[in-house]
Amino acid sequence: MNDRQKIRSIGILTSGGDSPGMNAAIRAVVRTAIYNNIRVYGIMRGYAGLIEDEINELNSRSVANIIQRGGTILKTARSKDFMNYEGRQKAFENLKKRDINGLVIIGGDGSFKGAQLFGKEFNINCIGLPGTIDRDIAGTDVTIGFDTAVNTAVEAIDKIRDTMDAHDRLFVVEVMGRDAGYIALYSGIATGAENILIPETKTDIEDVIKGLLEKEKRKKLVNLIVVAEGEEFGGANGVAKIIKEQAPNTDLRVCVLGHIQRGGSPSCADRVYASHMGYYAVEGLIHGKSNVMVGIINNKIHYTNFDAAIKLKQKIGQEWMKIVKILAI
Ligand code: ATP
Repeated sequence: MNDRQKIRSIGILTSGGDSPGMNAAIRAVVRTAIYNNIRVYGIMRGYAGLIEDEINELNSRSVANIIQRGGTILKTARSKDFMNYEGRQKAFENLKKRDINGLVIIGGDGSFKGAQLFGKEFNINCIGLPGTIDRDIAGTDVTIGFDTAVNTAVEAIDKIRDTMDAHDRLFVVEVMGRDAGYIALYSGIATGAENILIPETKTDIEDVIKGLLEKEKRKKLVNLIVVAEGEEFGGANGVAKIIKEQAPNTDLRVCVLGHIQRGGSPSCADRVYASHMGYYAVEGLIHGKSNVMVGIINNKIHYTNFDAAIKLKQKIGQEWMKIVKILAI
């Protein structure tokens, strides 16, 4: 179905949840396209702006001074209309009238599901860049935004630990991750959490409470539990409620970190990943790649079919939970 001819013009959009480093990726795509004499258009508000024709041509100056900024200059959105064929058809017409035959999508697995359909139904070459703080996409060791988000969480938890230690308290801290526990796992390990609760593994909550009571007996009163928002007991508040019911004497506080994890200046690592993958998104399109996501595996660029990137979600190995338990004795 796809037009394997020369890439004439490229459209770029950011979709789904924003992540720090998206701007660095936009910059890399725009400048690599211009270097190769390919016109490049910025599509506002993801698939929503594509359907509503909010599309502007970009030049190398349009992306000046953005590499260090969080968020996305193209803004992002979730679009119900793109879930329907009619919406996608309208989107295609808007690309066609500008002679755009390459589309770069920076987003998460939902955005790639949309891109996959779009690329199959219409004559457009779609290529994805993994822009998500959740790091829950296969075909890449890194996603744009994860490193920044997890470092924000670590910095916040370090601050909480100071007050936790001063008061000999238990803190239950909730970090982002509706379906994926990577932010919880990494930030929990990096801050010495006693327990880490994530959606990917079943937690024996009785065992968590038994451990807390046992630690209380030997006067280890400063305890940290890091919880991913999508774990099974209803986030940090749900976990705290159960602990309060079963161990009423525990001096416990809850902190939900929330959206601070999405914002802020991207880390050096995220800027480099975004620049590297952004460059190879355009290179991929030029060399006829379509319906694939650019990823980095063992420091090397890999192209993975959208199908595989979406289906083969990253898995968190059980041994991590064992390590967490041992390191918290
Ligand atoms: P994050 O990981 O940050 O949530 P995401 O890309 O997974 O990012 P979603 O809200 O799941 O975010 O998807 C973004 C957009 O992609 C949706 O609003 C919708 O327009 C489109 N999309 C998602 N799934 C499909 C699908 N099955 N068919 C068509 N379009 C889809």
